[in-house]
Amino acid sequence: MERLDSNLSSPEVADFRRKVTAFLSENLPSDIRAQVDQEKMDLSKEDQRRWHKTVRAHGLACPSWPKEYGGAGLSDAELYILEREFALAGAPRPMIYGVTMLGPALIAHGTADQKRRFLPGILEGDTFWCQGFSETNAGSDLASLKCTARRDGDCYVINGHKMWTSEGHIADWMFGIFRTDSSGRKQQGITFLLLDMRSPGVSVQPIATFDGTGTEINQVFFDDVRVPIEQRIGDEGAGWEIAKSVLTSERFGNAEVSRSIASLARLEAYCKTTTVDGKRLIEDPFVARRLIELEIALRAVEQTELRFLFHAGEELGAEAALLKLRGTEVQNAILSAAADFRGPAASLAMDESDLPPSAPKDYVDASHALKAHMNYRKTMIYGGSSEVQRNILAKGVLGL
Ligand SMILES: Cc1cc2nc3c(=O)[nH]c(=O)nc-3n(C[C@H](O)[C@H](O)[C@H](O)COP(=O)(O)OP(=O)(O)OC[C@H]3O[C@@H](n4cnc5c(N)ncnc54)[C@H](O)[C@@H]3O)c2cc1C
Repeated sequence: MERLDSNLSSPEVADFRRKVTAFLSENLPSDIRAQVDQEKMDLSKEDQRRWHKTVRAHGLACPSWPKEYGGAGLSDAELYILEREFALAGAPRPMIYGVTMLGPALIAHGTADQKRRFLPGILEGDTFWCQGFSETNAGSDLASLKCTARRDGDCYVINGHKMWTSEGHIADWMFGIFRTDSSGRKQQGITFLLLDMRSPGVSVQPIATFDGTGTEINQVFFDDVRVPIEQRIGDEGAGWEIAKSVLTSERFGNAEVSRSIASLARLEAYCKTTTVDGKRLIEDPFVARRLIELEIALRAVEQTELRFLFHAGEELGAEAALLKLRGTEVQNAILSAAADFRGPAASLAMDESDLPPSAPKDYVDASHALKAHMNYRKTMIYGGSSEVQRNILAKGVLGL
């Protein structure tokens, strides 16, 4: 513990923390904070852009990118502090597809021309990206993807579809992996391409989700879509390694520890201030016990994250699966408790728009809690499902 604390409490890091909290208290718009407080994960394009531009104006956008590309060039400890303070203050996550996923891959694998062309749009929050990896029969087993990119002169011609594309309906560009050769091992013959979502032949079909939160994921169809060869990242057939680096680039984010700490704090505040039958909710032994169990589980994940962060060296390896697995399980347990504690109101008010304008605030809160509980189940699926994480742990950590 001593070394963990010293990493986070050096005078430089403490000074950085003060700067971040001052920035947040002066600049986080209350309407954006209110949405995050309601556990809303996916903000509108306009709100995401507004917040990104504010963060950018203060030099904190693209925090992990090196300064030469306009990023903040933060150390691991500073990145950790930034993520934690943003979550605790109720600030949205970064625009992950551009900032966290594509940006670092472009910096590592792109040509100088590609970096000049694509990084500024991400940095300034002007270009929205989506991720075209999964297909109907290629999710956990991603290398089985079939959407083809056939070489034709100076272009690739794409045919097929991508599935579960988050933000595909608002994205300007997609980064994706496509099959350019099916003769060898399935991980070979995959090529990483960038494509303009306004290209002729691209059509986006939203998929309704059962949480009723509106459009979030989509199916994207390609019908003879032409992509210039200069929009290929890396060599033809070398896309699998780049895709893997994109999937592991969110080093601290996918365990959701910071967001869970903020969610549990909100839930505890709710239980302390809400009275049922003349008694504060927190005085109910069942509620108190459940909160304590959640707190213990969350603190264990937090300590594990810190241990990996400052003791495991550069590569997390298979242990990263432990964080993703437990982090998202605990996150879902917190949001499940939040819906349960709202009582019957949560099941009556699935959709806020179904409520009469005179509905008590409790019912509106309950509707948000239930939606969050339903919506966040996705964190146990994307980025590698819980079952797949268990397989990785069994093989890579337990040696089974
Ligand atoms: C809300 C949401 C947003 C998403 N956004 C994107 C996006 O923007 N871009 C993108 O490319 N993809 C996206 N995805 C797709 C996501 O990456 C896949 O859903 C995920 O990889 C699982 O793949 P699948 O849905 O095909 O399920 P499958 O792989 O078919 O799995 C079905 C079930 O079988 C289990 N399973 C699979 N293989 C094994 C195994 N070997 N051992 C044990 N159990 C197994 C899984 O855990 C799961 O329970 C998103 C998904 C969701 C839910």
